[in-house]
Amino acid sequence: MIRVNEHYLKLQAGYLFPEISRRVSAFAAQCSKANIIRMGIGDVTEPLVPAVVEAMHKAVDEMGGRASLKGYGPEQGYDFLRQAILDNDYKSRGVELAIDEIFVSDGSKCDTGNIQEIFGLENTIAVTDPVYPVYVDTNVMAGRTGAGTGNGQYAGIVYMPCTPANQFVPQFPSKPVDIIYLCYPNNPTGAVATRQQLSRWVDYARQTKAVILFDAAYETYISDPGIPHSIYEIPGARQVAIEFRSFSKTAGFTGLRCAFTVVPKDVVAYAADGKAVPVNPLWNRRHCTKFNGASFVSQAAAAAVYSPAGKQQSRQIIELYMQNAATIRRSLTQLGYEVYGGVNAPYVWIRTKNGMGSSEFFDVLLRKIHVVATPGAGFGPSGEGFMRLSAFNRPDKVKEAMERFASL
Ligand SMILES: *Cc1c(COP(=O)(O)O)cnc(C)c1O
Repeated sequence: MIRVNEHYLKLQAGYLFPEISRRVSAFAAQCSKANIIRMGIGDVTEPLVPAVVEAMHKAVDEMGGRASLKGYGPEQGYDFLRQAILDNDYKSRGVELAIDEIFVSDGSKCDTGNIQEIFGLENTIAVTDPVYPVYVDTNVMAGRTGAGTGNGQYAGIVYMPCTPANQFVPQFPSKPVDIIYLCYPNNPTGAVATRQQLSRWVDYARQTKAVILFDAAYETYISDPGIPHSIYEIPGARQVAIEFRSFSKTAGFTGLRCAFTVVPKDVVAYAADGKAVPVNPLWNRRHCTKFNGASFVSQAAAAAVYSPAGKQQSRQIIELYMQNAATIRRSLTQLGYEVYGGVNAPYVWIRTKNGMGSSEFFDVLLRKIHVVATPGAGFGPSGEGFMRLSAFNRPDKVKEAMERFASL
């Protein structure tokens, strides 16, 4: 008799988000004339830049020619892209990496979800609260947790609250942990970690023989020159950190798909006999066994992001989004909200007024001003009383949404 993977039955179906999308659909059906402005989206709105489109057209033509056809490529990605990554994302910031420490893929969601496979099931994981749900759910599926606790959390996971009191960068966990997920610039709070804060985490991981899984999907949004873009800017991180990067938010690739993971050869995990085992070959083995490479067209497009034209055009789009974020910050601050994020990240995190719950405030925004925002509680209990507003939108829509907030 075929048995189900019981761990999947523990999954709590995303706690609040399915309920939120039901409420939006119900409202849109009931009030079809309402011009709803969606500020909940975690997806880009601007088209791919001309340099990328041009590179894709060229790549498609190559695929259509008998002599120039690209079949299966290297599972780890083409060297033309891996070298461009090394030179532009790392060497330029004083970080030396080897080409075989870069693994190109079709997304950071998959990479951050899959990476846990190379670590033992007995490891304890630590995540921030609020958190990007992928880190949690993939560990639930693997069986690294207990049952759901009813508030969207799971037994056996160490949750590290991120609040205004700690500038949304967590304190060290109270119990020993082995795998630490950190995401900076942060989704959903829009916070960044300073060099000093990241250094403390790297030292902590070194002292406790833990590994940091560092999600840097939003690094291009950093405007403050003092904030590290890569965890490898921190001395010692090569021994304890794996970094995830994606072209999704940096160059609008959410529908095209291309990302990469950095696994330095110095990162080790320990065998039962205490022997240190480098994890780079394990990830390479996993990647080659279960993945056949990102498409040539996507990789050609990604390489074009690093061309002079690609860089300049992508920069303009980031600036458009960040101007939206500035508009949101300025307007809501003037209206008396407590506002966080939106300076080095495309998300603004606001506290509701008068202690209103996230879910109730969601309804107020939807019904009274026809604006959709994301309730902070959906990302974890420490998000209760907060809302996430996304800067991925057309500037005129953002301005109109802010006028509507003023009318509340
Ligand atoms: C959008 C996002 C990613 C990128 O995911 P892709 O699969 O590369 O599109 C990764 N991490 C976080 C936290 C994100 O918000």
